[in-house]
Amino acid sequence: MSYKNNKWVSDHLTALVLALLLGLGVTAAQAATDNINGVAVDMAMEEQLDDYLSSLGEEDIDSNAILFDVLDSLSQQTPLATRIRAKSYEVFWYYYEGDTELAFEKLDKLLTMTEKSELADVITEARATQVELLQAEGKQGEAFLLINDVEIPLANARNPRVRYYAHNLISRIYADWNRYDDALRHLLLAQEAVNETNNERTPVRKQYLDYSIAIIQSELKNWEGSLKTISNAIENAKEDGLTYDLPDFYLHKSYVEAGLGDREASLDSLRDAYQTAVKDEREYLLPVILNNFGDHYMYEEEWENARSHLREALGLAEAVEDKWMAQTVHFNLGFIDVRQGNTEAGLEEMREAVQFYRDEDIKIEVEGMLGELALAYEFAGQYKKQAETLKQQMELMDELYQNDQQQNLANLQHLYESKDKEQQIELLERQNELKQQLLEINEQRNLIWLLLGIVAIFAAIFILLLYRKARRANLRLKEANNLLADQSRKDPLTGLFNRRALQEEMEERQQHGERREASTHSDGLILLDIDFFKRINDKYGHAGGDEVLREISRRLQKECRVSDKLIRWGGEEFLFLVRNVDSSDLEEMSERILREIAKEPVIYEGKKIFVTTTIGFIQLPFADISEQEMDWEKVLQVADMALYTGKAHGRNRACGVTGLHVEYEQARTVLESDLSAALNKEWISMVTIEGPQLANKSS
Ligand code: GH3
Ligand code: MG
Ligand code: MG
Repeated sequence: MSYKNNKWVSDHLTALVLALLLGLGVTAAQAATDNINGVAVDMAMEEQLDDYLSSLGEEDIDSNAILFDVLDSLSQQTPLATRIRAKSYEVFWYYYEGDTELAFEKLDKLLTMTEKSELADVITEARATQVELLQAEGKQGEAFLLINDVEIPLANARNPRVRYYAHNLISRIYADWNRYDDALRHLLLAQEAVNETNNERTPVRKQYLDYSIAIIQSELKNWEGSLKTISNAIENAKEDGLTYDLPDFYLHKSYVEAGLGDREASLDSLRDAYQTAVKDEREYLLPVILNNFGDHYMYEEEWENARSHLREALGLAEAVEDKWMAQTVHFNLGFIDVRQGNTEAGLEEMREAVQFYRDEDIKIEVEGMLGELALAYEFAGQYKKQAETLKQQMELMDELYQNDQQQNLANLQHLYESKDKEQQIELLERQNELKQQLLEINEQRNLIWLLLGIVAIFAAIFILLLYRKARRANLRLKEANNLLADQSRKDPLTGLFNRRALQEEMEERQQHGERREASTHSDGLILLDIDFFKRINDKYGHAGGDEVLREISRRLQKECRVSDKLIRWGGEEFLFLVRNVDSSDLEEMSERILREIAKEPVIYEGKKIFVTTTIGFIQLPFADISEQEMDWEKVLQVADMALYTGKAHGRNRACGVTGLHVEYEQARTVLESDLSAALNKEWISMVTIEGPQLANKSS
């Protein structure tokens, strides 16, 4: 069983890393300026921080004092890059002092400081600090997920120290996740950064990187590459006189050569490892080297040679109290016992060693040991035990493999789930917010509808009121119009219809095409003129005349039937249009009118005014002459002539033209101008009705 323990490698790497990984200082040439590759820094403080790193391994220097001196002199004027570097070291200082909580608090402040910065170096260093702290805390999953956050600003970072630090860190995380390709890529980038520097620590850092690269290459089973790298590292170490790690390098070289099947070279390298380890007093490494010698001779079946190396290894392991190494050696010694026939004692020794590693929970070691134990059972002829052991080994292998994968996956899964849950919660919250907003919008919408409804109702009421008002106004207007129309058709003094009203009545009568039967059922016209009215005016004044006119109107209205129409025809002239009357009706009506007017005097200012009237009346149409031929105006003209005939014959009487005895055509001219001539020629007949005799005439 050769000793090539991952735990051992990483433990030692960690120790080395602590000293180196933060530790790429600025070069002496750069110290003269206040920037590194264009990144503004406080050069004096940067140098102090370099000193702090160099002092970490030294026992006689108070490294704490250096760091806190820098931290105390930080101010707002200190360039951000230097502040972040110092604060990053402060974070790890508290962390390695055991104050994890404070370390994380300081980290939060550090991240806040860089939030508004656009400097790639500053952001890279801050985030790398975060990732490294998480990694150190065993939060591999979180560290892994944050790699990207470091890689992005890292692409633009310029300060070699920052780039070296970040690439190294990322490489280690990838290696932890068995992603050796990515780990290697970042180591090479870290190497690029180192190559840009040239100071006294550059060779040490190059050496460290070479060793790391060689280890990753062997993980990738790139034996040739790994051999080349480690051989190169050995050459450089010798050249630079940096020999402290040479035994480790030779040990790795031996391991790689064994992997290549070059057993002689592997043995040579082991010898080199031994010599250099003795020379540099690497007493912890000696048991490992001697054990590997033993392992080599066991392979060659040189049992005694192997046993003597192993016994020496055991003594040295016990001397330095390396119980793990001691157990490994015991295991190998047990195997030799089995091969040399001391079967049960040998097997027991091997089983105890296996149990030790089982108890230590170093499964990867147990797995390798079980393979060799199975081999021992085979030699012992205990095939059943061999089968059982192989089965155990297989199970452990599975477990290891799955553990690795599952742990990684589980870590990631857990992270993704928690991120997923956060997102879900955020989504739900947003949905709720949206729902709330929708509710509010709906409420607002309802309110708007309600308001619109109310407005609509008010508007409707308003419109209705307006409409009613307008309708009332219309009605009033109509009434006013009617009144106006009425007034335009009425005589203001007497309230009787005027000439215009008669005109309209006659037009309507014509439109209705009222046909009058001959003589018996036609209409009639009765025209009146008050006698000696001028005298009344003269005697009683115009007002007295007016009063007479009003009173006469009232009396005439009494004689007027609903179908008839009474018109104030002129100053003291009145006209009846009488419907459906025959000749005798007209005579009777005229007589009644004469009586009605004359029967009582009109009283004006206590004075009695006796009034008589003269009437001319006629039928319409006259003597069956069509109204087209002899219209109502021509007929009225005849009545007018009859009236003046009455005046001429002494007044207070009614004269009616009652018949035509010649053709209208023949009588027309005479009729229209001289009624007495027509009467004399006996072309017409006329009746006269005397008015009542006035008992006491005032005039
Ligand atoms: P006759 O018997 O021939 O009809 O005699 P008369 O005096 O009535 O004569 P005429 O018909 O020619 O005179 C009418 C007079 O009536 C003339 C005018 O001064 C008067 N008159 C006309 N209209 C009015 C009115 O509205 N009021 C008053 N007070 N007098 C009026
Ligand atoms: Mg007159
Ligand atoms: Mg008159």
